Amino acid sequence: MPSPIVKCEVKSCNHWLPGDYCGAENIDILNEEEEKMSDTAEQTECKTFSERKGVANMIGTLDNVNWGGLAAGMFLDGQQVTPTVTCIVNSCIFWEDGDLCNAGNISVTGRHARECQDTNCYTFKNRD
Ligand code: SF4
Ligand code: SF4
Repeated sequence: MPSPIVKCEVKSCNHWLPGDYCGAENIDILNEEEEKMSDTAEQTECKTFSERKGVANMIGTLDNVNWGGLAAGMFLDGQQVTPTVTCIVNSCIFWEDGDLCNAGNISVTGRHARECQDTNCYTFKNRD
């Protein structure tokens, strides 16, 4: 079953981890508008986004974190921390039956997102 490695720049999400990893178990990639298939990456969203409150405070307290060690800890037995991906955006060339994504990697963008609609699957590529 294909599932891409997820890189995510959305630091304002609860699931975001240093190194642009996503710590969620599974993410759902949807069309922003339920009734309309996406034509562009901007029309997609990561529905699993959950806003991290008090970002400024959190970043303030993270000055002391051992980022190198933390990042190294994310590779256990050669396994990279990455969620499984469920995607319903079937207008994308990487979409496969069963709501799967067969891209090798995907990039989730929306650096200062406050809500799901502010995030995108940047890897989306229109079939047409
Ligand atoms: S926005 Fe989506 S991909 Fe990014 S950290 Fe949050 S849940 Fe994971
Ligand atoms: S690359 Fe395409 S199929 Fe894969 S998650 Fe993004 S929108 Fe869905």
